[in-house]
Amino acid sequence: MHININLTSSLIAPCGMNCGLCLGYHRLKNKCDGCQSTSLNKPNHCINCSIKNCELLSSGKSKYCFTCHKFPCKRIKNLDIRYKAKYGMSMIENLNSIKEIGIRKFTLKEKQKWACSKCGNIICVHREICLECGEKRVIQNYRTD
Ligand code: SF4
Ligand code: SF4
Ligand SMILES: [Zn+2]
Repeated sequence: MHININLTSSLIAPCGMNCGLCLGYHRLKNKCDGCQSTSLNKPNHCINCSIKNCELLSSGKSKYCFTCHKFPCKRIKNLDIRYKAKYGMSMIENLNSIKEIGIRKFTLKEKQKWACSKCGNIICVHREICLECGEKRVIQNYRTD
């Protein structure tokens, strides 16, 4: 299997998710082009996402939740808890980083952070091994206990 992942800033969702790491984006068949796209292959839970469709986001000037006065709201917090525990990735950390260094630098950092140590391909956050070469991924542990 081979898919060439080109991580660009347009793949970063308002919640801080990097859709370039998503299994939906990595699959060869019915590939989803990410939250910010109008991809026909976007799954229903992403089309109906309460964050993407949040009225505070659509009325704001920014595409990202960190500019919202409610940030981090309960929806973002819940998503962050789930992703930290299940996939070793933090939406809140991502959004704070975008706020601090800007989307361009953040995307560059993501390219380095998620490159497979063996083959260099971008790793899928939803899998424990590189889909390209099978190398085991180092998963960040956010647990404090
Ligand atoms: S399935 Fe959802 S999270 Fe995955 S790439 Fe598509 S919009 Fe992004
Ligand atoms: S942080 Fe603000 S814009 Fe983002 S989902 Fe929550 S309320 Fe909506
Ligand atoms: Zn690899």
